[in-house]
Amino acid sequence: MVLDEEFYVNITEHMQNLREEILRRNPAEPEFHQAVQEVLDSLAPVIARHPAYARAKLMERISEPERQIIFRVPWVDDAGEVHVNRGFRVEFSSALGPYKGGLRFHPSVNLSIVKFLGFEQVFKNALTGLPIGGAKGGADFDPKGRSDNEIMRFCQSFMTELYRHIGEYTDVPAGDTGVGLREIGYLFGQYKRITNRYETGALTGKGLAWGGARVRTEATGYGAAYFVAEMLAARGDGLEGREVIVSGSGNVAIYAIQKAQALGGRVVACSDSGGYVFDRDGIDLNLLRTIKEVERGRLSEYAERGASGASYVAGRPVWEVPCQVALPCATQNELDGDAARRLVKLGVVAVAEGANMPCTPEAVRVFREANVLFGPGKAANAGGVATSALEMQQNASRDSWTFEYTEERLHRIMRDIHATCFETAAEYGRPGDYVLGANIAGYSRVAEAMLACGVI
Ligand code: NDP
Repeated sequence: MVLDEEFYVNITEHMQNLREEILRRNPAEPEFHQAVQEVLDSLAPVIARHPAYARAKLMERISEPERQIIFRVPWVDDAGEVHVNRGFRVEFSSALGPYKGGLRFHPSVNLSIVKFLGFEQVFKNALTGLPIGGAKGGADFDPKGRSDNEIMRFCQSFMTELYRHIGEYTDVPAGDTGVGLREIGYLFGQYKRITNRYETGALTGKGLAWGGARVRTEATGYGAAYFVAEMLAARGDGLEGREVIVSGSGNVAIYAIQKAQALGGRVVACSDSGGYVFDRDGIDLNLLRTIKEVERGRLSEYAERGASGASYVAGRPVWEVPCQVALPCATQNELDGDAARRLVKLGVVAVAEGANMPCTPEAVRVFREANVLFGPGKAANAGGVATSALEMQQNASRDSWTFEYTEERLHRIMRDIHATCFETAAEYGRPGDYVLGANIAGYSRVAEAMLACGVI
């Protein structure tokens, strides 16, 4: 389609056409559609201001991954039975740096989910201000109940294909749901073995003894807590004395709880896919970490072993617990419109997404209409990937930073991301709209780099 003056006049029509074209070219990918729609909803003002972006078909290009890899992952379980899983790596954008984004091992993983995560990652990584492109990957493998040896064999098989696509200057995967330190270890071991290179910069989330960075484990959760504290501070408020609820009890949730507590919040509930724990005395983080990180147990054990103030509610989401601050840190679309209305009624004043796209579009609308501070995941959970980029810096210089220095860098990055979103929203006439601010700021950085590099 040739773009003319009339075209620019009707930006809405342009965005609508774009949306329809993306939906048509990517059928049966609902999560990807949702992620694209959410970004497109914010972009009309920036495209109106920069017609060159539309002329260069930047959004058409950004929404088409540079490369998508789908592969077979065969492996043998402890009983000798052969299994076949499907592996994915979607390399979305290298406009700002090597592809960068995590790997997810979960039975729900499919192309739509990997594409939504990769698409979000492009803008998130841009917001960090660090030189990283966007990607995501994973497999429809369920690590739950698998032995260490089965996990190792799966990771080795996965890397036997993935290794040819990644590298320090090419694509740098990390962890995500179902992929933590143990899995990154097995993946890194296999990469090293196949390539015969001790290339620490090819994967992040590594252990401290083999090229990892301090604070990477804590970074996403800490970052989400910092972000919500920044949003509250911008309204002259703070976390001090606030009741906080967190969904999930995995990597992001645990460290969001730790930092929210350190900043003065009273975290009274967290959850897993089976239900939630309410502890009126405040979540006992040591007990939670023992159950989840050391024993790899279930959250239901918390109430059995916890203090008298704790109870476990099976089969229900955590969103019925009264709070002023909610941090969804589990999975996509876990907080819907009804849950959002309930939270608003219960007095929530701030929500920050520790997970990727945990709030449905209706939930986001409810929060925005109720004037609840809402931090979208691409801003609020960017601390994880930012610290991965700091890990890459340490690998490149063969250096290792202290916990305090790295955390200060993370804190500064989160403050900068907040300021960028806040100021961009104000600049475009929507003060306090962090969704618009994050989308426009992230998009603009990618757009400028793409324009400079020509049509590639
Ligand atoms: P983990 O696998 O460590 O933890 C996920 C947690 O969420 C588990 O406690 C899991 O419970 C729970 N969960 C899953 N589904 C539901 C559900 N429907 N309702 C309630 N709880 C549920 O993953 P991470 O903590 O690493 O990731 C969580 C989210 O954060 C994901 O969206 C991820 O993409 C995002 N993220 C992660 C980053 C990181 O650095 N790890 C970086 C940026 C974003 P159960 O054990 O029962 O399945």
